Amino acid sequence: MDRCGLFAVYNNNTDVLQTAESIYYGLFSMQHRGMEAAGICVNQGGHFKYKKDEGLVIDIFDAQTLAGMQGHAGIGHVLRYAQGDPRELAQPIVIRYTNGQMAVALNGGLTNTNELRRELELQGAVFQTSEDAEIISVLISRARNRYGEIEDAIASVMPKLKGAYSLLVMTPGKVIGVRDPLGIRPLIIGKKKNSYYLSSETCAYNELGIEPLREVDPGEIVILKESGLRSLRTGAASEKAFCAYEYVYHSRPDSVLEGMEVYEVRSRMGAQLAKEAGVPADVVVWVPNSGLAAATGYAREAGLPLEDAFIKNKFYYNKFVHPTEDMIRRGVTMKLAVIKSRVKDQRVVVVDDSMVRGETGKILVDLLRDAGAKEVHLRIAAPEVKHHCDFGGNDKDEEALVSNRKSPEQIRDMIGADSVAFLSLDGLKQACARTYGGLCLACFDGDYPV
Ligand code: SF4
Repeated sequence: MDRCGLFAVYNNNTDVLQTAESIYYGLFSMQHRGMEAAGICVNQGGHFKYKKDEGLVIDIFDAQTLAGMQGHAGIGHVLRYAQGDPRELAQPIVIRYTNGQMAVALNGGLTNTNELRRELELQGAVFQTSEDAEIISVLISRARNRYGEIEDAIASVMPKLKGAYSLLVMTPGKVIGVRDPLGIRPLIIGKKKNSYYLSSETCAYNELGIEPLREVDPGEIVILKESGLRSLRTGAASEKAFCAYEYVYHSRPDSVLEGMEVYEVRSRMGAQLAKEAGVPADVVVWVPNSGLAAATGYAREAGLPLEDAFIKNKFYYNKFVHPTEDMIRRGVTMKLAVIKSRVKDQRVVVVDDSMVRGETGKILVDLLRDAGAKEVHLRIAAPEVKHHCDFGGNDKDEEALVSNRKSPEQIRDMIGADSVAFLSLDGLKQACARTYGGLCLACFDGDYPV
């Protein structure tokens, strides 16, 4: 699996929001991390109650369902990039084994899935899904028999897992958060009164009045239970490899990841882009909504007015994967329209967060030209995406990535822009320079940390 959203709580207070409601609101705040399926599992005095299904959080859970999910602890998940039936792939995975019940939810992707699956199948394991989370749950349940505590069993399994994983595990007595030794995917600890939380992004905490305490460190296991929070450190890699694409696109701008607000990093990317690839123009516009922060930085650096030229249809939500080119085009034109007075007879710089396949760029240029723009210069606030993500950040085969097949000049000709430019890799590193530790940049430079 891949870029998903995780939220967990160990609820030690009766006067804070009920467990399932907290998870519901937490997942709702992170709906942008996964719109294909969602699930919540709560611990009702040792018995797990859960619901998971295809669709959006608000479609799956209503007030009555949540009221029936009282409990003192729970974990939740939103799913993206399902390679199969989202109903089957929805998480948390809930299993029964000799030590009782266990629920597992994963944000990440393993690179040795096939080897692990084959090894377990040869030992008699039978899998219900193609999920890495299920493989991990089987590995932990088997190791559990050899260790007194679940966290020790998890620590014994971690060296077998290659790739990116931020993981939630719930047992009848504990909620556990785990981050891979490279810290590729985010996981942040929060606290409200005596209750502890884990979330993929701090935006989920903002709305619930939860104080973000700190990131789970690479290779760390944190244990939330009635007596509070405990940490178990397994080996971290020599250098962190936090996913740079979290700053480029994945995360919400108001989240703070690795010590930096996402909006601030994106704005710095835009300013750097203006320094590297500025062009004479009258106005800067952004592609809603993920292009806004970078366009703000670009306009400020270039000394140009920033115009809100695109209207986004509020009722459109991006399912991201469209099966045919025509449907992609229709998807974008259903989503966006241009306010003509903002761009007519203007030399326009349009700023977007990144370019993957390239179809959206052509539609943006067509929309702006149809609205009367005199010139259209496309500026991408990220380097060219040339490689697939081994850790689930994008699921495109490399042939589909436009920058793999075409230079910026060829892309300019393909989409009919007056010019096209990307942020340099050094520019991206510079914009992220104030974040903690190292970055994974593999989808830009092909240098995979695993
Ligand atoms: S390859 Fe790209 S999307 Fe995947 S973890 Fe690295 S930076 Fe993130």
